[in-house]
Amino acid sequence: MIQRPRGTRDFLPEEMERRRHYESLLRGVCRSHCFREVATPIFENTELFTAKSGPNIVDEIYSFQDKGGRDISLRPELTAAVMRMFVNEMSNLPRPLKLFYFGQCFRYERPQSGRYREFFQFGAEIIGAANAETDAEAIALAAAMVRALGLREYHLRVGHIGILRDKLRSMGVADHDMAEILQKLDKKSYDEAEPLLLARGVSDKDKEELFAMTRMVGGKELLPAIEGEAGDYLRELFAFLDAYGIRDVQLDIGTVRGLDYYTGVVFEIEAPCLGAEKQVCGGGSYTLSEMLGGDAVFSTGFAIGFDRILLALEREEQAFVNRSPDAFVLATGEDVRVESFRVASLLREAGLAVDVDLMRRKMSKAMKAAASTGARYAVIVGAKELATDSVTVRDMQSGEQKLVSIEELGSHLMD
Ligand code: ATP
Ligand code: MG
Repeated sequence: MIQRPRGTRDFLPEEMERRRHYESLLRGVCRSHCFREVATPIFENTELFTAKSGPNIVDEIYSFQDKGGRDISLRPELTAAVMRMFVNEMSNLPRPLKLFYFGQCFRYERPQSGRYREFFQFGAEIIGAANAETDAEAIALAAAMVRALGLREYHLRVGHIGILRDKLRSMGVADHDMAEILQKLDKKSYDEAEPLLLARGVSDKDKEELFAMTRMVGGKELLPAIEGEAGDYLRELFAFLDAYGIRDVQLDIGTVRGLDYYTGVVFEIEAPCLGAEKQVCGGGSYTLSEMLGGDAVFSTGFAIGFDRILLALEREEQAFVNRSPDAFVLATGEDVRVESFRVASLLREAGLAVDVDLMRRKMSKAMKAAASTGARYAVIVGAKELATDSVTVRDMQSGEQKLVSIEELGSHLMD
């Protein structure tokens, strides 16, 4: 038997229906916020990701040479791909562009609960606007998506990369050294950040002050104390978030996100029920288009870990009920078997979900099969009833049976 590769999953019908249901809820929220869907290739030229994704992600990329000797990678995320698409195809369109996407990503990671080598991201980007209301629009969409899924407990945290950058600058750390340090701080890996800071001549006192800042988390009461442009920006952002009805936001100075290209506001959503792998959404404002050969364009975007947020719903025991057939059509004998398919076809055309017996079962076995599908009704086609253009309809819950004319069958089954 051939097994599927480590870190990948098969989705059986029940699970797939559940995934499609939640997917369509998310699409609906995107539509209500007037974001439009795009899709990009599953694989791209490797250089798209090496320069633009964070060092962690680069180590995790699935890369290979194709038969023409080109360096190709499976996409580890979609932001770089969407921005490449923007630079290639959309840079002349009126701005801002509000785009969303849903698709699989690949990362060579150690598989565990909520962490796979093939996983799905549902994300959005606003391209070509740079102000607090744009960031608020992106955050509002992310929050609305999480709410639409019905997740009960989640934490939304917002930070501004400028606060720690200003602090690092004031401590004498050069801009090009910051990404690596910020990435350690983002993961709260203080023992790994420490040698990097000491190597750049940062004093013990400054280091402790910096670490203390990364632990600053609170509500909007923290806002007045934040100095500089980042403080002004965050105060504006919180006013827009408030207007959008988003008040359960935490200000988290330590949320910086590891990527080089983030420029200002960064945000994350966590589902505490997930334990260690609890981050279900990450995003922020960034510039990426210049690195891809386009003009300088500011964007704000985020990606929701679709698999992880579904896992969170499961942990919260949020029930999803698979749909059953409206009706199961069966024949009383061989003489009316063909005719029973005509009845099934009629009902399908009327818009009902109708299953049929493909196993040539005897009546009693066919009835058991109908019950096992969870069908609401069994439609029993027999010679005697057909003579009066009728069939027998059995309510599978109550067991009640009725003679119904074929003409009225569709409307009978629908109410
Ligand atoms: P983590 O710190 O958990 O590795 P990340 O910072 O690498 O996350 P992003 O690159 O921001 O994650 O991706 C956005 C979201 O995609 C994450 O918040 C997470 O929910 C989800 N995600 C990331 N990697 C995986 C994975 N290997 N399997 C499943 N979901 C993932
Ligand atoms: Mg990761």
